[in-house]
Amino acid sequence: MKCNANQNWCGEHEIVYSEDDNHYCVFHAPKDKKGISNEDFNKLVFQLIDKNRKKKDVLLLKGTIFPDAISFEQYNYDNQISIDINFSEAHFHNEVSFHGTHFTGGAYFDHATFHANAHLDNVNFNAMTTFTGAQFKQEVHFDDSNFMNNAVFCDTIFNNKADFKNAIFTDSVDFSSSHFKNGVKFKKAEFKSDCHFSKSHFSGKIDFSSINSNPIYFSNATFHKASFVNPNMSQHIYNGANFGGSSLMNLDLSNTDLQNSKGIIFDNTYIKNAKISRNARDPWSILRRNYSGTLLIFHLVLLIAFIMPYFGKTLLWVGINQSQESLTRSVESIRIRAENINSNEAREFVLGELSKITPCLAPECKEHTVAEVIIGLDKESKIWILVVLLIVYNIFRTILTRFIGPLCDEESRHYTTPPLGSYNPFSEGYKKLLPLHHMSQVLFLVSIVTFLWHAWVWSTAILWLPVK
Ligand SMILES: [Zn+2]
Repeated sequence: MKCNANQNWCGEHEIVYSEDDNHYCVFHAPKDKKGISNEDFNKLVFQLIDKNRKKKDVLLLKGTIFPDAISFEQYNYDNQISIDINFSEAHFHNEVSFHGTHFTGGAYFDHATFHANAHLDNVNFNAMTTFTGAQFKQEVHFDDSNFMNNAVFCDTIFNNKADFKNAIFTDSVDFSSSHFKNGVKFKKAEFKSDCHFSKSHFSGKIDFSSINSNPIYFSNATFHKASFVNPNMSQHIYNGANFGGSSLMNLDLSNTDLQNSKGIIFDNTYIKNAKISRNARDPWSILRRNYSGTLLIFHLVLLIAFIMPYFGKTLLWVGINQSQESLTRSVESIRIRAENINSNEAREFVLGELSKITPCLAPECKEHTVAEVIIGLDKESKIWILVVLLIVYNIFRTILTRFIGPLCDEESRHYTTPPLGSYNPFSEGYKKLLPLHHMSQVLFLVSIVTFLWHAWVWSTAILWLPVK
């Protein structure tokens, strides 16, 4: 009978547990079906290490189910694990301690599951070390550990606190696509070569304080409701990262690459020499783009385009008013002269014809002031509502420009974004301006529609021109 654990290293060990057609050796049997005490099980593991170490052979412990707590602390500096050891797909059902262990050969923990706290502190990993796809269901401590060769933590899941305080990564380390679900501490860690956190997910407290590193790659990483313990997150690469509402309050993001990043909310953030996308979608970038610089000029042109038709209309109606008044005066003076016509028939005719001439040249006229006609109060349509909205829109723009200009000035002098503040109109910061901006955006659309409507009406007005 062969062990059914689909591993090919345990063939020489007898079957200790069978279930239906499945048979298991002592290493792969479920945690309460080993048939020996937990202490004896651990001894078996140590015997394998000692045996393979003598043979200078790789030790495969792939898929081993560790039923209870186990400590490898005896494999310290004077008793090093001098062979490659493979714990991949292993399950550690209780606490495991590698405190002070020296791995001279490679240490492979790919897809291993740590069901309880894992102590990997003060460990010397002298060769390749991999935790690809490993899962730490409880806390894990790597503090003061030394990674002398490549370390791989790709797709590793840290469900609880992860502590890498004072850890030293001499060669490159890759945390790509790892999940830190309850914070991570890299305080005083040293990254002497490349360090990648690309596509990693961070939640909770992120502590990178007093680290020693080259720029760290956080490309396309996600910071979900994370908080940065250390304000200095400068120099690193965050392109495509999603900050998902994490607070950037008082953070130092100078010399970073923030291009294509999402979910940023600047809050008194130091951004000297930071690379920020030209079309950044964060609220502060939107405000400063809309109410200062080139867009300001664009909107001024738009404002003039909005006013021009009204200006033209005013001139036209004032002109018409003058001609109507002079027409009325002429008709009146002709009427006075016509009273003196001797022939009754002729007098009646002239007076009759004169009475038909009205100021508006139509059978009936109604008086309006020039202002009423310009904003369209004389018409059935509700154009005047649009006109009022446009006036409000331009008042909003003026207020926003008036507040945002000085904030931009200050930012360009100190390289620090304004604080976020609150919706309270008297608070410091730019948050209170956001509702005004959103309303103004709606009015902007209305303004475009009105402008197009004006353009249509004016260009399709019919004129009568003499034929040559
Ligand atoms: Zn087996």
